[in-house]
Amino acid sequence: MSSILRIALQKSGRLSEDSYQLFKECGIRFDYGTGKLKSVSSNFPAEFLFLRDDDIPGYVEDGVADLGIVGENVAVESTHQVETVHRLGFSKCRLSLAIPRATDWNGIHDLAGKSIATSYPRILGNYLQEKQISAEIHEISGSVEIAPGIGLAEAICDIVSSGSTLLSNGLKEVEVIFRSEAILIARPTLEAEKQTLLEKLLFRIKAVQAAKN
Ligand code: ATP
Ligand code: ZN
Repeated sequence: MSSILRIALQKSGRLSEDSYQLFKECGIRFDYGTGKLKSVSSNFPAEFLFLRDDDIPGYVEDGVADLGIVGENVAVESTHQVETVHRLGFSKCRLSLAIPRATDWNGIHDLAGKSIATSYPRILGNYLQEKQISAEIHEISGSVEIAPGIGLAEAICDIVSSGSTLLSNGLKEVEVIFRSEAILIARPTLEAEKQTLLEKLLFRIKAVQAAKN
């Protein structure tokens, strides 16, 4: 029986275009952006599934997909057991702490006893523990940057790229706690045939990356 790799990609968002480009540069053709949920490659034994990025680690762990591309922030925050196979170098961003612009900042210890709103409670929790700071983590799923303005929290921890969202919400970035980029993840126990296909794919990805450097 011939195997096929099932690869989960973000349906539409900040990872989508570069993920698609990567496979294109690897010479792997498939339909993309047609609104379909999946697409079989016409020239490589792979089938692509288009999903929300947050669901990808779970699908990879469960074996619905063999591989996936997600932001490292999503993989690290997730409780699902997946393996990081390769760093892809795109969709770079940082997870930072921010506070109201008018508030003084003398360092991370200023957060002791404060409440911090975030969609990344695990990454933030680990960071605070490492720094031996006890603060209250307030988990919210979106629009984290409005939390201080509405009195929900005294600080936030969120993804920052340009900083303009922070600025328009009267916040300032005070500490970077995590740097992220897109990564290729895999189920830790791939069957031998799929492992061979993954190695073929990785060989091509590395060649594409080498040609760019
Ligand atoms: P989905 O609808 O698939 O759940 P999403 O809104 O959660 O999408 P995106 O905003 O598309 O996700 O971001 C996907 C990933 O891109 C993030 O997890 C992060 O790794 C990366 N990223 C890069 N720059 C940014 C940014 N400025 N803001 C948010 N994420 C960014
Ligand atoms: Zn998402």
